[in-house]
Amino acid sequence: MQRRTERSESAFARAADVLVGGVNSPVRAFKAVGGTPPVIVRARGSAITDIDDNTYVDYVGSYGPAILGHAPQPVVTAVTKAARRGTTYGAPTVGETQLAEAVVAAMDAIEKVRFVSSGTEAVMTALRLARGATGRDKIVKCAGGYHGHADAMLAAAGSGAATLGVPSSPGVPAATAGETLVVDYNDADAVADVLDARGGDVAAVLVEPVAGNMGVVPPRDGYLAALRSACDAAGTLLIFDEVITGFRVAPGGAQKLYGVRADLTVLGKIIGGGLPVGAVGGGAALMDHLAPLGEIYQAGTLSGNPLATAAGLATLEALADDGVYERLEATAAALERGLRDAAAASGLAERVCIQRVGSMMSCFFRPPPVTNYADAAASNADAYAAFFHAMLDAGVYLAPGQFEAMFVSAAHDDGDVAQTIVAAEGAFAAAAERL
Ligand SMILES: *Cc1c(COP(=O)(O)O)cnc(C)c1O
Repeated sequence: MQRRTERSESAFARAADVLVGGVNSPVRAFKAVGGTPPVIVRARGSAITDIDDNTYVDYVGSYGPAILGHAPQPVVTAVTKAARRGTTYGAPTVGETQLAEAVVAAMDAIEKVRFVSSGTEAVMTALRLARGATGRDKIVKCAGGYHGHADAMLAAAGSGAATLGVPSSPGVPAATAGETLVVDYNDADAVADVLDARGGDVAAVLVEPVAGNMGVVPPRDGYLAALRSACDAAGTLLIFDEVITGFRVAPGGAQKLYGVRADLTVLGKIIGGGLPVGAVGGGAALMDHLAPLGEIYQAGTLSGNPLATAAGLATLEALADDGVYERLEATAAALERGLRDAAAASGLAERVCIQRVGSMMSCFFRPPPVTNYADAAASNADAYAAFFHAMLDAGVYLAPGQFEAMFVSAAHDDGDVAQTIVAAEGAFAAAAERL
């Protein structure tokens, strides 16, 4: 296929005059894979269309929110209706209560919720709450775990930062990063050791229960349960960052899937239905430390915004329909099988590592398994870039970085999967030349 790119190139050049790097979030700039990003004009279902009128099967899904696909009718209707009633009031609404009720109903460990406008903000709120409630300052996180761009979380951050080879960022005070202790993902002993040595200083262990920002890395058997016990022994709070996994791997999130409860759960992405929402939730006694009931301050002009809560509620209602998660699993499993076969056809069966949990999936260009960030970072970036560009040229839109997940939505169908597998046969062959 001859892909037209002239309009994207000129639109992106125009953007670069006034937006830093032409983008508002670094991974979008294609630095890890090279080339010019398609500039998007619309998306519907599983398809996304750029300004040159190329249409792609989309597996970015806005990095996770688009679990129903793009522009799903119930969400479009809910947002449109809400907009006619006014887009923001700075006052209580019934919509925010309904969204909170839907979250509480789905997630066993959540009795109360505070909504904010992004995952980053939700993590900031969770950390302040954990510190305020325990009277401790230190936080434990995993190398390659991404928890948004707050100062304390840019110690060995993954995702965009790791893709760009920036382990931490200038502008983060050393003192702030020093409050964060970094351990390897999937190493429960490392967490137990830290908590044994200095548990009295550690407010919380913060972890993505399924890592999604170093590529998809599932928790080892017993890992999450071991974190739970280590935290209980030390009086440390366990925070699950379920910004990706919440309502993705199951309605009750990874906590439901793996049977381990967190003290605080951070949500985002899907619960906003494609509008800006984040949330922190947990048991009532803990959550009630937040203002106005408690002394821990937190606020937001647009928090609980009526458009965002309407989009989120419509999304969670659609996800509550029978069979959605079974369909996501079936589609993703078919895609995984097809990708494995396509890799094998290019002699890469043992040289790539495909990992999947439900509708989130990754292909690392290195031998399996990938269990932590060091493993993921040893992947071949050139091979991924070749794979990525071959897929894009064949009409499949993947994340422009190996450490981002591939997301399947409820709108992807057998035809999309078939097109993707055909594209992957050529793309693995192109990647094989670089491995
Ligand atoms: C995306 C993400 C965040 C940050 O959310 P934003 O809305 O981008 O601020 C935090 N944690 C995880 C696990 C994420 O994937």
